[in-house]
Amino acid sequence: MNFAFTKEEEAFRQEILTFLKQELPPGWIGATYYEDELEQEELWELGRKFAPKLGQKGWLAMAWPKAYGGQERSHIEQTLFKEEMAYNRAPGVDFAGVGMCGPTLMMYGTPEQKKKFLTPIAKGEVFWCQGFSEPEAGSDLASLRTKAVDKGDHFLVNGQKVWTSGGHRAQWMFLLARTDPDASKHKGISFMLLDMKTPGVEVRPLMNIVGGHAFNETFFDNVRIPKENLVGKQNDGWTVATSLLNFERSGIERVASARRLLDEVIEFVRENKKRLTISRDIEVIKQKLAEMVIQLQVGRWMGYHVSYIQQKGDMPWSEAPISKVFGSELMQRVANVGMEILGPYAQLETGSKWATLGGRVSHMYQSSLGRTLGGGTSEIQRNLIATKGLGLPRS
Ligand SMILES: Cc1cc2nc3c(=O)[nH]c(=O)nc-3n(C[C@H](O)[C@H](O)[C@H](O)COP(=O)(O)OP(=O)(O)OC[C@H]3O[C@@H](n4cnc5c(N)ncnc54)[C@H](O)[C@@H]3O)c2cc1C
Repeated sequence: MNFAFTKEEEAFRQEILTFLKQELPPGWIGATYYEDELEQEELWELGRKFAPKLGQKGWLAMAWPKAYGGQERSHIEQTLFKEEMAYNRAPGVDFAGVGMCGPTLMMYGTPEQKKKFLTPIAKGEVFWCQGFSEPEAGSDLASLRTKAVDKGDHFLVNGQKVWTSGGHRAQWMFLLARTDPDASKHKGISFMLLDMKTPGVEVRPLMNIVGGHAFNETFFDNVRIPKENLVGKQNDGWTVATSLLNFERSGIERVASARRLLDEVIEFVRENKKRLTISRDIEVIKQKLAEMVIQLQVGRWMGYHVSYIQQKGDMPWSEAPISKVFGSELMQRVANVGMEILGPYAQLETGSKWATLGGRVSHMYQSSLGRTLGGGTSEIQRNLIATKGLGLPRS
């Protein structure tokens, strides 16, 4: 069986690479993961200027219908784009908008919602955030308590969200709120869209493990959300949310980011092989690097496989969580191996002149810890693989 990309797909990959080389600043190294863009002002500004350029090329949402700013291109091509963006650490992708909200609106949005929201997402003109998790509702998301009371033409929303990535940057949020407190846990929840400038919305920073401000607490105090911003049926938000979470889990970006970091470590070993041969066991280093290369290749195929399933129009119910667990844990393994090989100087942080590879390995070592939590923890993904994939009982 031939798993190769078609000539057109390979040509498209080259087109992306040429564009990135032309458009990114000379000597571009970029940041190790997309959250850095939310944290660092300069990177954020660059990303917001870069996004409309990607939108103009029609690449941000290339698999979407032309009517909504897409190009009706294949999921495979979209995956190639995501992979090259992540590998080259290019900024400007709104993961919550393009990757989660857009596909969900395509499935459940009204014609008016599609018209209003999809094209600005595809053109890179707007930035979204996700308001799902709450202090008492993470893995058990259906325990959420944020209340949305039906007031006829609008909902009155009160409550709190937590870990809102990019909440301080976003113009819009998609959120889940309880609209029927008497219904059972998974029922009585609704999915709605919130303009972050609405009175009563307060965003407070939460600092992450690397000391950066990527996520937030978001508070709602009598926030009015117009009824026209309800997505799907009232009280049926759980159906909408579960589809969205599968879009969230299908990314190949994790493997591409890890592959880039490993390539930098390999290059460092090549350049410093004499020094490393004296100070450490080069045979052990070779074994560790080769093992990571094997795993990265496996992770890549998993990511491609998910897009193949999506291309057929199917939902990757168990394949997406498989890819999520493997890719997120692999980022940690690669960073771990990088730290072992590079030695104590790799522990220095970005900004130190002594930090090996500009502190990027240590940065990923710390920030990758969140990868096995965000978007659903590895344990929850394994539960999904067991129930949806293997047909085992829920509990
Ligand atoms: C980097 C990052 C970005 C994030 N961005 C966002 C965002 O933008 N918007 C948003 O809404 N949320 C966001 N989150 C929140 C994320 O979705 C939650 O952290 C995640 O769902 C886990 O919830 P929790 O933190 O409450 O942990 P808990 O649910 O309290 O879990 C604690 C531990 O118990 C385990 N556990 C819980 N239930 C089970 C079970 N049934 N079986 C086995 N083990 C179980 C978990 O795996 C975990 O190890 C983000 C998180 C991170 C780390």
